[in-house]
Amino acid sequence: MNIALIAHDEKKELMIQFCIAYCGILSRNNLFATGTTGKIVSESTGLSIIGFLAGSQGGDQQIAARISCNEIDMLLFFRDPLNPKPNEPNDMNILRLCDMHNIPVATNIATAEVLIHGLERGDLDWRNIIK
Ligand code: PGA
Repeated sequence: MNIALIAHDEKKELMIQFCIAYCGILSRNNLFATGTTGKIVSESTGLSIIGFLAGSQGGDQQIAARISCNEIDMLLFFRDPLNPKPNEPNDMNILRLCDMHNIPVATNIATAEVLIHGLERGDLDWRNIIK
């Protein structure tokens, strides 16, 4: 499965902790991320991640383009609901694209845990069938 990771600055540490906790599952999948998120997660976990541009430079739009083509099977987008910075990726467009293609998406760690357990259990195998 192709899993995309994006974390706003206030949530990057949380994303690292999540990826450390689920390193085993994540390592069996193809990982993509916006620039900074991918770099820090990769450095902290040793996971191999295909990094796009930084979010502020359009990395989120690169991920959105792949979602538009239904090439991403799960999006973990840890948003900062309190103080999103103006240059941080806007969630509405990317979430809309996920809804268009029925791509499972988590915007907080609680949902991300449910999704990652579901992935491990095979709940998302239907994604392989539709592709
Ligand atoms: P980044 O993009 O991973 O490059 O920081 C996400 C963001 O800008 O919040």
